[in-house]
Amino acid sequence: MPIYEFTCEQCGHEFSVLVRRMGDSAACPECHSEHVKRRMSGFAAHGGKTGSGGYAPT
Ligand SMILES: [Zn+2]
Repeated sequence: MPIYEFTCEQCGHEFSVLVRRMGDSAACPECHSEHVKRRMSGFAAHGGKTGSGGYAPT
């Protein structure tokens, strides 16, 4: 089971969440902000993209 690490962009709190499905979102346990950044620990997936994909499927 993958455990993802998140960093809250609001308060800077770092926490980890057990994610069962890809695409699950998480909220900061400290300030309950959903502006969290997922840190892929254990994977070499550091693209450096800021997640605002330019393509909309609709
Ligand atoms: Zn926070």
